[in-house]
Amino acid sequence: MASFSSAISNPRHVLSQKALAHDAKHMKICASHCSAFPLHFQRSPICRMSFISRLERKETRKPQISASVTDTTVGKSSEKVKLPKGDMWSVHKFGGTCVGSSERIKNVADIILNDDSERKLVVVSAMSKVTDMMYDLIYKAQSRDESYISALDAVLEKHRSTALDLLDGDELGSFLSQLHHDISNLKAMLRAIYIAGHATESFTDFVVGHGELWSAQLLSSLVRKNGVDCQWMDTREVLVVNPTSSNQVDPVYAESEQRLEKWYSKNQAKTIIATGFIASTPQNIPTTLKRDGSDFSSAIMGALLRARQVTIWTDVDGVYSADPRKVSEAVILKTLSYQEAWEMSYFGANVLHPRTIIPVMRYDIPIIIRNIFNLSAPGTKICRAAADMDEVAQGLESYVKGFATIDNLALVNVEGTGMAGVPGTASAIFDAVKAVGANVIMISQASSEHSVCFAVPDKEVKAVAEALQSRFRQALDAGRLSQVQVIPNCSILAAVGQKMASTPGVSATLFNALAKANINVRAIAQGCSEYNITVVLKREDCIRGLRAVHSRFYLSRTTIAVGIIGPGLIGGTLLDQLRDQTATLKEEFNIDLRVMGITGSRTMLLSDSGIDLARWRELLKEEGEKAVLEKFVHHVHENHFIPNTVLVDCTADSGIASHYNDWLRKGIHVVTPNKKANSGPLDQYLKLRALQRQSYTHYFYEATVGAGLPIISTLRGLLETGDRILRIEGIFSGTLSYIFNNFISGRTFSEVVAEAKQAGYTEPDPRDDLSGTDVRRKVIILARESGLKLELSDIPVESLVPEPLRACPSAEEFMQKLPQFDHDLATKRQIAEDAGEVLRYVGVVDVIKQKGEVQLRTYKKDHPFAQLSGSDNIIAFTTRRYKEQPLIVRGPGAGAEVTAGGVFSDILRLASYLGAPS
Ligand code: ADP
Ligand code: ASP
Ligand code: MG
Repeated sequence: MASFSSAISNPRHVLSQKALAHDAKHMKICASHCSAFPLHFQRSPICRMSFISRLERKETRKPQISASVTDTTVGKSSEKVKLPKGDMWSVHKFGGTCVGSSERIKNVADIILNDDSERKLVVVSAMSKVTDMMYDLIYKAQSRDESYISALDAVLEKHRSTALDLLDGDELGSFLSQLHHDISNLKAMLRAIYIAGHATESFTDFVVGHGELWSAQLLSSLVRKNGVDCQWMDTREVLVVNPTSSNQVDPVYAESEQRLEKWYSKNQAKTIIATGFIASTPQNIPTTLKRDGSDFSSAIMGALLRARQVTIWTDVDGVYSADPRKVSEAVILKTLSYQEAWEMSYFGANVLHPRTIIPVMRYDIPIIIRNIFNLSAPGTKICRAAADMDEVAQGLESYVKGFATIDNLALVNVEGTGMAGVPGTASAIFDAVKAVGANVIMISQASSEHSVCFAVPDKEVKAVAEALQSRFRQALDAGRLSQVQVIPNCSILAAVGQKMASTPGVSATLFNALAKANINVRAIAQGCSEYNITVVLKREDCIRGLRAVHSRFYLSRTTIAVGIIGPGLIGGTLLDQLRDQTATLKEEFNIDLRVMGITGSRTMLLSDSGIDLARWRELLKEEGEKAVLEKFVHHVHENHFIPNTVLVDCTADSGIASHYNDWLRKGIHVVTPNKKANSGPLDQYLKLRALQRQSYTHYFYEATVGAGLPIISTLRGLLETGDRILRIEGIFSGTLSYIFNNFISGRTFSEVVAEAKQAGYTEPDPRDDLSGTDVRRKVIILARESGLKLELSDIPVESLVPEPLRACPSAEEFMQKLPQFDHDLATKRQIAEDAGEVLRYVGVVDVIKQKGEVQLRTYKKDHPFAQLSGSDNIIAFTTRRYKEQPLIVRGPGAGAEVTAGGVFSDILRLASYLGAPS
């Protein structure tokens, strides 16, 4: 373990132990041994000594590396060479991932060598993760955690092995000796921080900037190795910045330009590799441009050189319409205006540091964001707005460029009637916020002046609330202010686009998309810059909100995650229909249905991106897992990129139906042919419908009555347009329709039932059809849909199962004994025939008398009900408008194909409710 004493026993170090241990100023002196010399100490005698010792050592090194210790503030000897500025310069910036390994650094060198610009300045970040490692060293040392030593060894090893891969000969020797020297100084400094238990900001900045110093030296050595004359620049000698109160820095352009000219006069080269991230204060104290600041460095350098363009190389194809890690369907933006890029980065698109735009905008220098791993992608060009103009005609979508989010925020709401019309309240609020140094990310005030609400980072909200409580103590006590309320766990979602806020319809569409995803908006702000609309959401809603608005504006397709429950006869047929139709729906109707899960009662199949429906049966068998409904629902709903979810219940299970309420509450849409929920207990039904009406969540059940026939939708259409339903009467059972259509003279009832069973028209036990229970459920569904508040037990049913056979233990026995009772129905048929009528088993909803019933009735031979064939359903609506002649819907009302078709059309209805184009 290298100890503090061993560090100071090095004869080149002339500092006293006492000084190192107790005086931060002396810690800065120690820092002066490092390759980047803190300039303000160069005038101190001690410092001079170390500086000289450094110059002596320099003889063994390449002159390029010794440039790091050149004192640009002295520089008397060198002759001034004028720095050329303008289009001949192209500036590149390579982010941490671009220089993350020796292979990647080689790749970067190739790009530099292939750029045929006359002059190039290349800004480079630290190797990926290195800045984090450096911050971690500080953190460990000041927490008195000895493992900072091994962590520093890891930093050394990372750079040493990279250098061994890349360099050889003198270049390698110089780099390694510089690296070892820096590391031993850092070790001494960290030891001092360890002893003091504290690191000042400038100390921290000094330590963490080493990543850039090393990567710039590595890269420049490699470029030189390839035969190109190249200098590396320690930007602390050039960039001068003033710290501001809000943990940011402002470049001092005039001074930086002078220093650049001075630097150039001693280091003329057509290729310059400069450190990103680091700079100096006007007092020559090393500082940084803060996290991710290398983008900013490159923009400042571009501005100082009046460069032709600044290319920022990173690991994505350009600026996406949303963070590609959160929205897999995000698309690359070809162009962005400076303002749009600024807004996107301010609101969290970390592809670009938010301050990058300002320096280049002054000189109209375009920024190109490009992917180092995909040179064929043209990237995103950020420039003046004019380039966008040709997109304006493309409709609302082109007004919104992208979306970004900021997490870990809290809202503070200062509320009270005493605020209205009182000048200075806002200023007092924000004074108090400023006093605790909190960063206000957005502000919103209703014009009633009743409340002011603003967002601050979560970690700052406690101090802000306390400051406000104390600042407004008197007003709170007097009741002029009613509260200072903190709403934690919020996120900001910002939509960015030139002029979007002033274009009618954009914000409506945005809020609509959020409402449809069942997301509650806590606060809203629209900058009068008209470049963004900002909404505050609950943190857990943020990603879903982002995806919902993104898909609404960007994909233009309605994407719905589908979960199928019950892949039996109907569910399976539906899956096959979906398989055959999804591509067409996507291409022609912009509806993107993705089956994310299929569950039976025993096995379920889950997918993150959509199940391959061509193989769903084998996949369910081979890759299915044990079915757990809760897990299934969670998976289909929380899969993190589809804004809408629909669960399709293809079972006849009341247990599944009992979950609808909970699902709708969660924002999950429900589509089903299952009659159990709508024919179950009235209070639960009413609750379900109330919930459906209050929210933007949809519940469709067309196939519960008449399979695919438009019965519920016809009824709804009549009601919604103000018609009054008087009576609904119909043959609702395909089985009973078949039986009575074929129960003609010469045939017995039992014979027809046996035939129907044989042909698969009946349930396995025909009593399930003959009892009339199923028809009764359909009648109650229609009765309730028409506004009657009835229980299932309020509907009398005439069962066709003879009383003595109801208790028969098996279907077989029932079928065997049924002929014994043929006489009864034969008599009824004879009476009807004698009167010129037929028997039909019907359900009736009598809205006037507020009742429903299921019974065997007779109809004249010319009545539409008497004209049926096969297993057709027929439903007659008598209404105020259709009084003389009822409105009749007729057609096949049973069977897997038509029932699944009815469910499918409900799913498409949902898509159109969610905004799919018609
Ligand atoms: P570098 O180290 O090159 O500076 P960063 O990690 O700082 O790279 O920035 C690039 C990353 O920014 C991308 O990998 C991407 O995940 C993220 N990012 C967030 N929002 C966006 C966006 N809208 N467009 C592109 N990338 C984004
Ligand atoms: N290396 C610095 C950081 O990680 C600066 C940068 O990469 O932009 O924050
Ligand atoms: Mg970055």
